[in-house]
Amino acid sequence: MSPAPVIVVTGPSGAGKGTLIAELLRRLPQLEHAVSATTREQRPGEVDGREYWFLSPEEFERRLRAGDFLEYRIYVSGKRYGTLHSELERIKKAGRVCVLELETVGAMTVKRSVPGTVTIFISASVAELERRLKERATETHTEIGERLRLAREQLEQAGEFDHVIVNDELEHAADELERVVRRELALAATIEP
Ligand code: ADP
Ligand code: 5GP
Repeated sequence: MSPAPVIVVTGPSGAGKGTLIAELLRRLPQLEHAVSATTREQRPGEVDGREYWFLSPEEFERRLRAGDFLEYRIYVSGKRYGTLHSELERIKKAGRVCVLELETVGAMTVKRSVPGTVTIFISASVAELERRLKERATETHTEIGERLRLAREQLEQAGEFDHVIVNDELEHAADELERVVRRELALAATIEP
């Protein structure tokens, strides 16, 4: 039996990655979210250590120099986001399956560096992303504009990932994500390393 795959969920801001991952974790309790570190501001309702480890730029830099990150990216507005080795190790040690939520470049980096990584791109139209980001109202008008500009580029890369799920109707997309992940887990369980 080969080791459980690492599941990476990627796609543009507002596609519904966070929403779909939360639903996936409810449906498949053997999965666990690997909490990234970030220098962006904490949104209302977010908890340090649950959505992210919220670090100061100095602390992020210190941990980067200490070699704590598997990968990191500077996203919009100069904010940094990074995958911690310690999170992957913790989840693996507990015998659970790791789920990462990453922007597209980080998703590709993890795919290249961690054997057995499965990448799933969550997609929605630019008009719908704009509507959702405005409705979510967690970023300024300027930052939403930056996120949408980047989204146009990211949507063109969708075909480079292992699976693409269009998140139009939430329940339908959640069912498809569950089906894809169940199939990948079953596949990994039958393949010799
Ligand atoms: P991401 O993590 O990709 O940035 P979120 O999960 O935060 O996206 O979703 C962005 C917003 O869109 C949230 O307010 C969420 O409730 C909403 N949303 C997610 N999926 C759908 C959907 N299928 N239809 C309508 N709204 C959605
Ligand atoms: P947000 O500010 O909306 O939470 O996240 C912005 C983007 O950063 C999202 O696309 C999210 O998936 C991505 N992201 C979150 N954590 C990481 C990480 O550790 N590495 C990379 N490369 N991207 C991340």
